[in-house]
Amino acid sequence: MNATDIGPSSSSRKPPLVGVLAVVGVGLIGGSFAAAIRQAGAARTILGAGRRPQTLARARELGLIDEAVTLEEAAARADLILLSVPVGATGPILTCMAPHLQPGTLLTDAGSTKSDVEQAGRAALGERIGQFIPGHPIAGAEASGPEAACHDLYRDRTVVLTPLPENREADRRLLRRLWESCGARVVSMQPEAHDKALASVSHMPHLLAAVFMAQIAAAADSELRMTLAGTGFRDFTRIAAGSPEMWRDIFRANRKAMLGELDQFRSALDQAEQSLRDDDDQGLYDFLERAALARRLWGSRSRL
Ligand code: NAP
Repeated sequence: MNATDIGPSSSSRKPPLVGVLAVVGVGLIGGSFAAAIRQAGAARTILGAGRRPQTLARARELGLIDEAVTLEEAAARADLILLSVPVGATGPILTCMAPHLQPGTLLTDAGSTKSDVEQAGRAALGERIGQFIPGHPIAGAEASGPEAACHDLYRDRTVVLTPLPENREADRRLLRRLWESCGARVVSMQPEAHDKALASVSHMPHLLAAVFMAQIAAAADSELRMTLAGTGFRDFTRIAAGSPEMWRDIFRANRKAMLGELDQFRSALDQAEQSLRDDDDQGLYDFLERAALARRLWGSRSRL
């Protein structure tokens, strides 16, 4: 991808929704937001900040950002700041940016957990917490870094916002319009409800895929097993290739909800194991049928 691929389309003649957008963490999620916003012509200038200078240089080469800046500069110059870093980095980054923020600057994030991010925001921003609207785009991939960014990652995907009572209505509307300009549907919910649901349908699948993959890789005959592995193995383990840093932070942040999910999962696994031990053909058939029907229904509804 290069800058010409992601320039504003000729049909987008409307004035930009924001002047200066700063993306902190120009990887898959932040880079894709920058690319989609650029494609929509929704920001005049896009700044990038982050950790390693080479990542920001690559993001610039790819046309995702116009300029690489420090966190302090991003805070001082941006109208809108998106944090798209591992969730554990949210607090330290907001603390560093807080003294430099303009009163009208709107902050948001893309972190996969929301209760911890809200807490980190409150601790770092204090009275300025009203400037921060936490969010989570339910879109992604196992690839990471600016090379993986894609301008249509958010098309027809859901973005969850977990607004705070302190947020201004005009800021909520603006953020909603920005995500919609990326092609996303926006919903609002409470952070606890978000974290509980995502523990079940995102964080647990990742844990299970990773545990499964790691135990196969550790087997004495792993070479043979992997040679014989086919598409079922590929599909089941795909997500295990995701960033360990990002997933460690998610697991740590959502520990309580994940432990609850693990208890339920263990009891379902025990039941399946019991049917197998007891030669209970009907029991096995029934649970496989329930799972197959539920998966087909979800597949036809979600078109994923
Ligand atoms: P990514 O591709 O690895 O990008 C993360 C970026 O954050 C990198 O550019 C990295 O810089 C930067 N970064 C990491 N730690 C930092 C720090 N302490 N200070 C400043 N910059 C830092 O990861 P991603 O997939 O975009 O994920 C970003 C966020 O989106 C995470 O919170 C994740 O939970 C959330 N999310 C991910 C997905 C998904 O499927 N991947 C989906 C929805 C939401 P360097 O390159 O220099 O290391």
